Amino acid sequence: MDIKEIKKDFPILGINVNKKPLIYLDNAATTQKPIQVIEAISDYYRNYNANVHRGVHTLSQIATDKFEAVREQIKNFINAKESSEIIYTRGTTESINLLASSLTKTLQEGDEIIISESEHHSNIVPWQLNCEGKNIKIKILPIRDDGSYDLDELENIVTENTRIVSLAQVSNSLGVVHRVKEIFHRVRKISHRNILTIVDGAQGIPHLKVDVQDLGCDFYCFSAHKIYAPMGIGVLYGRKELLEEMIPYQGGGEMIKEVSFEKTTYNVAPYRFEAGTPSVADVIGFGKAIEYVNSLGIENIIAHEDKIMQYATERLKNIEGLRIIGDYKEKAGAISFLIGNSHPFDVGTLLDQLGIAIRTGHHCAQPVMQHYNIPGTARASFALYTDFEDIDKFADALKRVALMLQ
Ligand code: PLP
Repeated sequence: MDIKEIKKDFPILGINVNKKPLIYLDNAATTQKPIQVIEAISDYYRNYNANVHRGVHTLSQIATDKFEAVREQIKNFINAKESSEIIYTRGTTESINLLASSLTKTLQEGDEIIISESEHHSNIVPWQLNCEGKNIKIKILPIRDDGSYDLDELENIVTENTRIVSLAQVSNSLGVVHRVKEIFHRVRKISHRNILTIVDGAQGIPHLKVDVQDLGCDFYCFSAHKIYAPMGIGVLYGRKELLEEMIPYQGGGEMIKEVSFEKTTYNVAPYRFEAGTPSVADVIGFGKAIEYVNSLGIENIIAHEDKIMQYATERLKNIEGLRIIGDYKEKAGAISFLIGNSHPFDVGTLLDQLGIAIRTGHHCAQPVMQHYNIPGTARASFALYTDFEDIDKFADALKRVALMLQ
């Protein structure tokens, strides 16, 4: 991949911040958008803005066709069996809230849900909210100090009461890749019950080749904005048989078959989970982002990002006083670190003065910070447009910052 050429597709990568050329290393928070995506959104509003599924008029039909064509693109991108298994949501957060709301309604007293210690808050709080006041236990798969799941604990945690296992494919706070496929396989060997498996793929989708059938998951959640698409749109993939039985999450237009004051019946999946007017322009932009990623090839992106990850890890490890948090062998997209006793906020602020954008804080994963007994970390995260020069500038700047803070 010619990264210099690729960078030209992302207008924002050419701007200055604090009078310095921007080096954007906060891709785990959100990725930048290529011009193809930006123009597709503008084209929609200029030329065929109309509500979908509702009109017989031409614009509505064009909008609906394009909106549904993206569903097919997503289906192919993650290798779902059918496009009806793709539900549009606002993002990972809404996808998990939908699942937590719908699935917990069918749980019985004494049932158990397993999540891990390294989850993003959006794979913790929805379960807590929906289990409140019910006798349903949320059990935690602990992490080791390298950030990987402590799989020896699986035997103790999984029981005949386990009904749901919901895990992140890649930790957003540490960048650690978790082998969810293998874990689900082991979980199903330990318990004889039918356990529902959920993947939080927010950080998996931009950095790994995702095949939901191969993963053996029942549900896969992700946000489009983490993979070069607009904000405000995301996906819940669910196996068709399960979606057909699930209780709708929100009520409103489009999700019904028939409404009367006596009895309302629901539409088929995916529409029964898509109440109200969707974010059509963002779906259109999402389709362009997938096209963009496919044009480069996800395998090429992964190979490039692996090299960047290795190079950045080496360079950072050579900075005196710098400590990587979650130094696991399999990582994707992000490196978390601390410098001596300095506060990550100071590191982030000083780097910002040099035009370098990183993230600091708890990264919406406070239990991870509690594990290491730290208030937060500094996190640099990468994308397909990150090149070796970006890493060199970042590492050189970090050296200066380390000297200033120690
Ligand atoms: N899960 C993980 C692992 C994440 O990294 C994020 C966002 O950073 C989310 C969930 C929530 O995603 P969103 O805010 O796009 O809904």
